[in-house]
Amino acid sequence: MTLQRVKLLFNGRWDENSQYHDFRDCDAYIPSNSSFQQFVEYIQGKLFPSGELTISRLIMYWIGSSNSNLISIVEDKYILWLMLMLPDSPEIDLCVVVDHVSSVAQNSQNTLYLNNESTNIDQSFKHPAGNNEIVDSQDFDVFQSGIPIRVGLPFSSKSVLKKAIYFLALKNSFELTTTRSNKTSFEIHCKDMSCGWYLRASVYRGGGVWIVQKFIDNHKCCIDIVKDGHRQATSWIVAECTKGTSESSYIGLPPFSTALIENNPGTYTTQEFDDEGRFKYYFIALAASIDAWKFCFPIMSVDGACLKNNFMGTLFSACTLEGNSQIVPLAFVVVNYENDASWSWFFRNLKAIFGDSNDHVIMSDGHKSIAKGVSSVYDFAEHELCAFICIKTLLRTISHVQL
Ligand SMILES: [Zn+2]
Repeated sequence: MTLQRVKLLFNGRWDENSQYHDFRDCDAYIPSNSSFQQFVEYIQGKLFPSGELTISRLIMYWIGSSNSNLISIVEDKYILWLMLMLPDSPEIDLCVVVDHVSSVAQNSQNTLYLNNESTNIDQSFKHPAGNNEIVDSQDFDVFQSGIPIRVGLPFSSKSVLKKAIYFLALKNSFELTTTRSNKTSFEIHCKDMSCGWYLRASVYRGGGVWIVQKFIDNHKCCIDIVKDGHRQATSWIVAECTKGTSESSYIGLPPFSTALIENNPGTYTTQEFDDEGRFKYYFIALAASIDAWKFCFPIMSVDGACLKNNFMGTLFSACTLEGNSQIVPLAFVVVNYENDASWSWFFRNLKAIFGDSNDHVIMSDGHKSIAKGVSSVYDFAEHELCAFICIKTLLRTISHVQL
């Protein structure tokens, strides 16, 4: 699960120009695929862990901007939008203002402010495993900075244990090597085997619970191992995050894209949502495909295939042949509907990545939206029907001809 840093402003006051002043602030790390309800619950848990106050209003706010940019966060689509807008940099200006009322003053129109200082906030945010409760996958949502692994800590499954270890590796940028992994024991070292970092865990009395038996959290390895460390951990976590429901997979596309690009520099992805923030299109062209195109025949074959998940939709693809006549996939798009607009969107992105020239040919079946899309987007490339379609049409035509 990818965590997004969200800057929370609170304990401040609004002036007559809808500017927020004299606030306190803190960072919260919130799963980027959170629903509105989960988003509020994370903030509630972060700011008011003992439930003394209830959040009544969340507002997106650009510091120093005019009031035209104040946006109330009221449902899931605003969270999705917020996660898309948040840049992955510490110089963030987009913030979430937490207005809240106490549980005994629900009818108050004005903001009541925290009595306690924000310095107490993090201290009151304790991990349940501190009481030797079993660490479960939900704990990653609660404990945003990672599970504090220690000897004796129980995990509900091997997968949860690995997730905690890989989050730690990701956070501290080092790479790992698994030296033993079976039904009863798990051992993992720093990639540099001469480094002392080591963890060993085993299953508890044949049950499903895994307990950390030995943990040396101390690196002596060289800087190169540490520097290159994100790749393996990110891949594992991306794979974990992409499991789940169709809904969570669609919401998880932005963080998925970020991780994909980080691990495959030069990869191109883009997406489009409708006016209500619902999924429309998602385009992906891997860096390897983009590089390979330069060495392939300038002939692209495009086609669409119906998807069979809950939301249906269509998968568009473009591929070509390399010099050894092997198929090279170039780009994929998932669209809500196959029509003129979606094919044109696909071709606009294809053209942006793979270019347009006189010797460029786009080959397809006889779908009218493809022909329309190519003619509206490309200036030089030609559209041709594939040989199979041509022969089929020819045979249909000549079957009526008396020779
Ligand atoms: Zn190390």
